[in-house]
Amino acid sequence: MTWSADDIKSTGESRALHFRDALRRYELARTDGKRDQRQASYECRFCFYFGHGMAGQAFTEYTCKGCDTEQMHSNTAVPKLCDDCATKMDACRRCGGTREWPDIPLAPVKAKPVRPKKRRWEK
Ligand SMILES: [Zn+2]
Ligand SMILES: [Zn+2]
Repeated sequence: MTWSADDIKSTGESRALHFRDALRRYELARTDGKRDQRQASYECRFCFYFGHGMAGQAFTEYTCKGCDTEQMHSNTAVPKLCDDCATKMDACRRCGGTREWPDIPLAPVKAKPVRPKKRRWEK
C-alpha cells in the first residue's frame, strides 16, 4: 500500500488538531487562564500547564523535601513538597520553585532567512 491522498488528508487534519490544541495550551499558560485551579493545586505555571505529562495512576509514597515526612500522592508524579510546606513557603508543590512570577516579557521572534542548502555535487 502506498501513501494515498486520503492518508495525506487525514494525517494533515490530525496534525492541525494537535497544533490547535498546543496553541490553546500555550495561550492558557500565557494568560494563566486556570489560575484558581492552579492555586488550588499549589503549582507554578510551568508545572501546572506543561508538567502533567504521563503519570501512572497509582498511589505513591514520597518524602517531602520541606518537612522530611512521608506523604502519599495520588499518582506516580510525586511532588517535592507536601501541601502544607508549599503553602508555608509559597512555593510550587511539584518543582519547589517560586509559585508566582512577575510578567515575563516575550521578545519578538525573528525569523532567520533560509539559505538554500548546497548539495554535495554543487561547487
Ligand atoms: Zn512538607
Ligand atoms: Zn513548579
